[in-house]
Amino acid sequence: MSSDNPKVRVRFAPSPTGRIHVGNIRTALFNWLFARHHDGEFMLRLDDTDAERSTEAFAQGIKDDLSWLGLQWDLAAKQSERYLEYEKAVRKLTEDGRLYPCYEAPDELDLKRRRQLARGRPPVYDRSALSMSDDDLAKYEEQGRQPHWRFKLNHELVSWDDLVRGDTKIDAASFSDPVMIRQGGGYLYTLPSVVDDIDFEISHVIRGEDHVANTAAQIQLFEALGASVPRFGHHNLLVGADGEALSKRKGSVSVAGLRDEGLEPLAINAHAATIGSAHPVAPHQSMQEIAALFDFSKLSRAPARFDESELRHLNAKYLHEAAFEIVRERLEKSGITGGEPFWLAVRGNIDVLKDVEQWWRVVDGEIGPLIEDQQFCTKAQALLPLGPFDEQSWSVWTSAVKEQTGAKGKALFMPLRKALTAKEHGPELKMLLPMMSYEKVSDRLLGKRA
Ligand code: GLU
Repeated sequence: MSSDNPKVRVRFAPSPTGRIHVGNIRTALFNWLFARHHDGEFMLRLDDTDAERSTEAFAQGIKDDLSWLGLQWDLAAKQSERYLEYEKAVRKLTEDGRLYPCYEAPDELDLKRRRQLARGRPPVYDRSALSMSDDDLAKYEEQGRQPHWRFKLNHELVSWDDLVRGDTKIDAASFSDPVMIRQGGGYLYTLPSVVDDIDFEISHVIRGEDHVANTAAQIQLFEALGASVPRFGHHNLLVGADGEALSKRKGSVSVAGLRDEGLEPLAINAHAATIGSAHPVAPHQSMQEIAALFDFSKLSRAPARFDESELRHLNAKYLHEAAFEIVRERLEKSGITGGEPFWLAVRGNIDVLKDVEQWWRVVDGEIGPLIEDQQFCTKAQALLPLGPFDEQSWSVWTSAVKEQTGAKGKALFMPLRKALTAKEHGPELKMLLPMMSYEKVSDRLLGKRA
């Protein structure tokens, strides 16, 4: 990655009309990583000009989600507090003839589009508002119609060197002049975004590929407002199993949902950083590790398919290698006092952290043993060395049981495992045994709840 600007400042700009979902995480993460990589700043901007759908609760939720993911921002702003700035820009653009009022109703526009399509022409707005006569205007005003406002594009090729896509060219003549202000006065996102990017001196705009067409109009807006144009980077999108882009409207997996299911922020970040890239989807133990491998040139151009089971699998792999320090606080908070030996014994047998609770019950709580052959287990109980157990106890004990009963392999170990843990699979008993009391093991072997 390289930057032309001395000071890197990027922004993640969600609308607080929902919580962040898996698709958004990549945008937030890429911006955050880019800022860290260039010793720059990461800004959180809340695009809340849609007053009807934006809520304070969603805004707070987004902040909670980002904080939980470890994507802390250096500065924040929200668009609803910046209308005066947008009005200034509107005045300038109107004076310069780049913003113009249009009075067509949605059904009239729709009809125009259909006619154009029927004639095999692209459905581009014909700018008839620009040639509106005074009579037309008087008529509309008499009818009480309110205008919406469009930005007059320069019909030229807009090109930029995209951080991800490289040289990108878009013919602005192939688009309708974009609406900047809705009928009734509400801002669409395009203009406020550019005004903010100018005022907050955003050096790089990193966002999803769905914004490529907006970029052409926005580059012209930067120029029309006399500002320098930031660098742009458009990453590939995630699609669901149906091949459609993930979106909050479709209820795609939210960060909050993943957190409730017990997934780890680092696993989610590692997944977000590697999916849809040339890197294998693999666990990473720190944000530094993730940052070191991040590179826009490694992103693939095609959309990447999000598969929740792949993320779960990655979460398990991450925990299987996670150091005790990473989980210490959370284990202690849930009353698990087994410390590092317990963690090292069980981490390979969990998918999410809360799975440790069942193993803690095996070690320290009460379970009903699974006994198929009580006679065998009673013999094993008689041979159980006295506690406290240590790392050797398991092999000393099982050798004695083997000698006395002739059982070996699975026939020897499985009945003992089932009696001690009430499960067929789990952590090595050699490691669990030293954490269990003699009485508990002995009772379980005799078929008692203990
Ligand atoms: N609020 C816009 C969105 O969520 C921001 C796009 C941008 O980054 O410019 O799509």
